[in-house]
Amino acid sequence: MFKRAKLFSTVLIITCAVILCLPALAQLKIGAGSAEITPDPTRIRVTTGGYGKFLGHVAKGIHDPVYAKAVVFEVNGKKAALAAIDLVEVSNEIMDAAVKRLQGTGFSRDNLFVCATHTHAAPGAVENIIIADLGFGPYSQTVVDIIADGIVKAIKDANASLKPANLGIAQGQAPGLTRNRRVDYYNYDTRRFARPYDPKTEPITDDTITIIRADDQTGKPIAIIFQLATHGTTLGPNNTQLSADWPGVTRGQIEAKYPGAIALFINGAQGDQAPDEADVPDDFQAMEIFGKRVADAAIPLVEKTKPVNPDPIKMEIKYHKVDQGLQAFGLKFPLWITRIWFKEMPFSGLRLGELIFLGAPVEAISIIGKDIRKSAAELGYQYPIYIGLMNDHYLYVTTPEEYRKGGYEADNTMFGETESRLLRANSRKSRRTSDKSRAKRKPALLSDTQGRRYESNGVVYRFPIFAFTLFFYRFSNTLIL
Ligand SMILES: [Zn+2]
Repeated sequence: MFKRAKLFSTVLIITCAVILCLPALAQLKIGAGSAEITPDPTRIRVTTGGYGKFLGHVAKGIHDPVYAKAVVFEVNGKKAALAAIDLVEVSNEIMDAAVKRLQGTGFSRDNLFVCATHTHAAPGAVENIIIADLGFGPYSQTVVDIIADGIVKAIKDANASLKPANLGIAQGQAPGLTRNRRVDYYNYDTRRFARPYDPKTEPITDDTITIIRADDQTGKPIAIIFQLATHGTTLGPNNTQLSADWPGVTRGQIEAKYPGAIALFINGAQGDQAPDEADVPDDFQAMEIFGKRVADAAIPLVEKTKPVNPDPIKMEIKYHKVDQGLQAFGLKFPLWITRIWFKEMPFSGLRLGELIFLGAPVEAISIIGKDIRKSAAELGYQYPIYIGLMNDHYLYVTTPEEYRKGGYEADNTMFGETESRLLRANSRKSRRTSDKSRAKRKPALLSDTQGRRYESNGVVYRFPIFAFTLFFYRFSNTLIL
């Protein structure tokens, strides 16, 4: 009897010791904030950002306000801010202005992730570069200041409202919402497809809708992040009214359904993706229709989220120095001129345990986004989310095959064929030195989700997508450690 009591007390002591030695469960706090960033086009000159027209396309009024939305994550005292702005792009000038205003708040270039919704009807002229001036009108510091003020307000509000939270995720497929516009039956001016959606003949699309939901301890949503990779182009080049385009409509629907929650839209690899716009004469009506279609697909997923373990929180922003001359719009520039405008490309990673956001400052076509997600999944990330248009803007990125086909996106890549030439040498080197690892990686990197391989022209032409993905491979590895 005595022995049994002694044994019992020993077990009890050991159990208590084990419990005491266990690390505390990760404490996640989340806050969300929102700020309007609509400049008043009746008082200052505002050009729309999405449609290039010599010296800018001037906005005359406001159809609906544009916003900066932000979510701040804090895990075990470490913070990161994710902000999405209703703009066609994030410029380096916007980042600088926001970072300057955030000095002393604990947010800096190291933990700030700002992406654009790619809304074409939102303010432009935010890049202080002469070639951007030609397309979008003279650079406007006033507009940049309004946007930076909004980003900062949204982040500060999010930071001030941090509270213990739970994170959940749900993903679903919504075929037919977004379509591949690199087809001869898509009209870039009217933004309409001449043929109805047919999954059998449609080129690659990314039909994934992702919902990331943050709830407070009572189960009430604080923030709902939603993603569908497609262009914000339901409003066209002749529109003169500022608008958040369809993401604003979807956001409004989600926020109406979940009062008190802030909805934040993040775009993905939308380079070749366009909304399947309704064939109605009024574009604002088409915008409403499409925004509601996305909401109808997204809202049921909000109810189906699975819990995400957010620990550890890790983040890194790596800068790739621009090392070749710009080749875009049919023009070639020497490296030294290119470097006056473009210095470093920020690639970013924000990891919240099982979830990782991988951001690039480009408009990648959908296959690239899919490959990046697949690569990250192979590294063990349960929920890899690729975000485009993050922290800067370096035009489009296509696969070599799509580059050779030409067309709008190929003509607007940053480095054109030079990129392939430069990478060719690297690909030969990598073939010699790491045949084994290359062979191991090949299926994930060089095949698309429909099982097709990029073949015929050899590794030379395959390599740019490989390199782009490889960046995330290496990057993700550093995050895993
Ligand atoms: Zn675009």
